Amino acid sequence: MGRPYVVIGAGLGGLATALRLAHRGERVLVLEKTGMVGGRNRPVEVGGSRFDGGPTLMMMMDPFRKLFTDVGERIEDHLDCRLCDPSYRVFYADGTIFEGTTNVPLMKERVAAMTDEDHARRYEKLHGDLKALYEASIPNFVRKNFYSPLDFFGLKQLGMVAKHGMIDNLARRVKRYADDPRLRMLYSFQTMYLGLSPYDAPWVYAVLTYMEYGEGIFYPMGGMTEICTKVAELAEKRGAEIRLNSPVSWVEGRTVMLESGEMIEAEAVICNADLPYAEKELQKKASPDRRYSCSAQMMYMDYRGELPGLEHHNVFFGPDFEGNLHRLFHEPLGLVDEPAFYACVSCKTDPAKADPGHQNLYILAPVPNMDRPLTEAENARLKEHVFRRLCQASDFDPANVAAMKTYSPADWETDLNLDKGAAFGLSHDFWQSAFFRPGNRSRSNPNMYFVGASTQPGNGLPMVLISAELVEDRLQHDGFLRA
Ligand SMILES: Cc1cc2nc3c(=O)[nH]c(=O)nc-3n(C[C@H](O)[C@H](O)[C@H](O)COP(=O)(O)OP(=O)(O)OC[C@H]3O[C@@H](n4cnc5c(N)ncnc54)[C@H](O)[C@@H]3O)c2cc1C
Repeated sequence: MGRPYVVIGAGLGGLATALRLAHRGERVLVLEKTGMVGGRNRPVEVGGSRFDGGPTLMMMMDPFRKLFTDVGERIEDHLDCRLCDPSYRVFYADGTIFEGTTNVPLMKERVAAMTDEDHARRYEKLHGDLKALYEASIPNFVRKNFYSPLDFFGLKQLGMVAKHGMIDNLARRVKRYADDPRLRMLYSFQTMYLGLSPYDAPWVYAVLTYMEYGEGIFYPMGGMTEICTKVAELAEKRGAEIRLNSPVSWVEGRTVMLESGEMIEAEAVICNADLPYAEKELQKKASPDRRYSCSAQMMYMDYRGELPGLEHHNVFFGPDFEGNLHRLFHEPLGLVDEPAFYACVSCKTDPAKADPGHQNLYILAPVPNMDRPLTEAENARLKEHVFRRLCQASDFDPANVAAMKTYSPADWETDLNLDKGAAFGLSHDFWQSAFFRPGNRSRSNPNMYFVGASTQPGNGLPMVLISAELVEDRLQHDGFLRA
């Protein structure tokens, strides 16, 4: 057999690429640093509770379905995906509670109850505008390799940018649809999934809001990690070899050197290790001008008892959303006052994720990356704040936390090689989006490609799956694969 395609990293991007290549009959070798597949999407166990370590929201089902159909499978035969309805419960600092849903008439009723009929009508307009934005942007700017600048700057594309106001500021544009600050938060906070403030984001990222309110949030029974487990199984079934505990130390040309000293000659190298780290450490070619996302401070709690006030997904807003984000992204001064955070209790949908009488309580708080790590005192204050809000929202009692594991920006960096501990990779500001985001072919090595969150199109599981589609397309374009 000929040289293998060597995939560095078994995150979803690496696994999806391995599956696509193995399905074509190519020889594939995946080299993963850690002892598990999944990367950011891998399991965590604490006491009697089992967690998805990173992603908890399965949105934009099309790239998931497409991966399975492209390799002759049906997603339904592998993943039992359930719609989460309500999508989530939102807890505002003034005590208001709101539940999001994909059901437009019901959502209008809830918006009217919280504000007034005019806001309900404007919600319908927002929904329509977001649908149009989504349909224009995904095929033209996301699911696309930019082989020439004209693929991005062509008249058709520029016309769409103008028509949908794609590069308008997102937070400013949301004001057209809501005067109420609670609704503005509700319609714009989704950019935080990319580690990006809506006050810095172009309007095109409002497609994330559409993914939630148009199509909905899904949960695959067994957990988000099932997605990676199944993709890895299908790749192996088609002959791909996945080697765990096999960190790569550098790549030059077609040669891949492992930390063990083993050298492998590859047909081509597809690097799923996060791009800024890979450029710096594997290619020894740092780009000084990259900008990074924020990070995430995680708390995984094995909770004894019930948490009746919480849903599967819960969002807690602080009193000063804009000030909070400004300080987090522009004056990383450590912990902001009253920070917003997200809580997930997936055993509400999937009881097998916690032992009887227990709840798997997952907390994600956006925090600065390693440019300004939180001090011990700030981490203690964060925990106190989270516990206080949980006590107000449900029957949470700190004494019932049977066990807890935390995971900090430093852990994201050392464990998964995410440069600066930026849990969401490179930031998604305008100059690192679409055509301007680092491309999927290495600039210095014609045999090396990138797949994953910090290359095009970007962060999030569906984007990473599209990234694998684009790498396959690029390998074909460059003559490695048959059309
Ligand atoms: C806390 C958190 C919550 C999130 N929530 C969501 C969500 O709800 N929904 C959603 O869609 N997305 C979410 N995301 C984003 C999503 O998790 C990522 O976009 C996605 O998992 C990234 O996949 P990837 O394949 O690009 O990289 P990774 O998952 O980072 O995989 C890269 C792999 O490369 C390996 N590696 C690194 N260096 C080497 C080396 N030298 N040699 C060998 N292997 C190496 C790593 O160990 C890792 O396994 C979240 C992310 C985080 C951090």
